[in-house]
Amino acid sequence: MDSRAFVTVLKRVYHKVYHMTISCTKITTGKKMELVRATTQNTQISCAIKASNELVKNLHRDGLDRGCVATFNDSMVLRQTFTKDETSLYRSLNGLRNFVSGGTRLYDSMVDVVKTFQRNGNRSRPWILVVVTDGDDNRSSRSLKKCAEEISQQFTKDSSNFLFLVGVGDGVDSTKMEQMASIGNFIYFPVKDFFLLELVFLTIAHKITTSLSLSLGNVTVGDYSASWAEVQKHRNLSQVAIDYALLIDVSASMNNVIKPPSPQCFEGHDLKKKYHIGNWYCDVCGKDSNTTVSQYHCGICNFDACPSHCKSGEKCKSESTCRSRHPLRYAQSPGMWMCDECGKYYYGRSLKCFRCDYDMCSTCLAKEDLALLMTTSVVTGQCPGQVTQKRNDNPSKFYYDNLFRYSAKVF
Ligand SMILES: [Zn+2]
Ligand SMILES: [Zn+2]
Ligand SMILES: [Zn+2]
Ligand SMILES: [Zn+2]
Ligand SMILES: [Zn+2]
Repeated sequence: MDSRAFVTVLKRVYHKVYHMTISCTKITTGKKMELVRATTQNTQISCAIKASNELVKNLHRDGLDRGCVATFNDSMVLRQTFTKDETSLYRSLNGLRNFVSGGTRLYDSMVDVVKTFQRNGNRSRPWILVVVTDGDDNRSSRSLKKCAEEISQQFTKDSSNFLFLVGVGDGVDSTKMEQMASIGNFIYFPVKDFFLLELVFLTIAHKITTSLSLSLGNVTVGDYSASWAEVQKHRNLSQVAIDYALLIDVSASMNNVIKPPSPQCFEGHDLKKKYHIGNWYCDVCGKDSNTTVSQYHCGICNFDACPSHCKSGEKCKSESTCRSRHPLRYAQSPGMWMCDECGKYYYGRSLKCFRCDYDMCSTCLAKEDLALLMTTSVVTGQCPGQVTQKRNDNPSKFYYDNLFRYSAKVF
């Protein structure tokens, strides 16, 4: 048994023993956010429904706050008037996929919902309106400017009312939306795709709850250190009951199927299927393949990875890094090379950083793993299962990185 295999076995044994004695820290770290994963076909509307469910679940205090569900295509329709009953809201949201058809009457519909607040909203409460659209307005009778002015007059003029407009995908004209937001005195969020809608809702919910429990000042966007658990905590502490409405686009394009984001190479390029002329090896773990098909290939970096390293929307994780923390990839050296850690000379494949011209041998990699195992699990008493996450210090950071990358701009 070589030292690398030994470390792997040791990790497994230690992990088992650990779990027999005390509970795993992984389990007790609380609720982590799961983005929508493609198990069956995801449509834009199914993503919007899932994200809305999550928003209601965490924002709404049953029997206290009041929620309202509305849709728009050729016209605005109130699907559920203001209600304290959470169950009615879920029922309404989950039925929305049956209404998808027609055009995008965005501006007029926003004003329609504002008028619903005027008629049925409780004036002693803050009002919150969240609007989701995937396209450009093509049905409104009033102009963008006219609608924005009415929204400002009847809704956002009051500093305890908040309006968030979320534009998802390339079909949305962000310049127009920003113009509308600045006249209408509300916040516009551009988002690259529907997989990120839940994250945007979380950001919105966090903004709402933190500003309500502190003061009723203006919402400033740009803080991402939020979680649904934190939103719930703020809600439960708050004395302020809210009236909120969701206005969701059900135009025909909301039935479009959305593909989950590709896995990515170390540099963040999308990985695609590729037929190699000869055999290839995995740049992450160094294993040789026995087929000519690589499911996950980056043409820019000439990078291949086994499926086991690849997760939708995530960068492959390298086994180790150079001293400047660049990910190391397996590379075939034409001649002899020297390990920058132990100074020994080798032939064949090395773990390499091309930027720094740094090479590491397998013995040094195994030593590094062992050292890490000792410090994280033995010294601090943490679950060694987390050793595998060594390069991913903050698990939720990925989502925030993606939010920045997928957003049309950083808001
Ligand atoms: Zn591999
Ligand atoms: Zn690449
Ligand atoms: Zn070495
Ligand atoms: Zn480097
Ligand atoms: Zn564990």
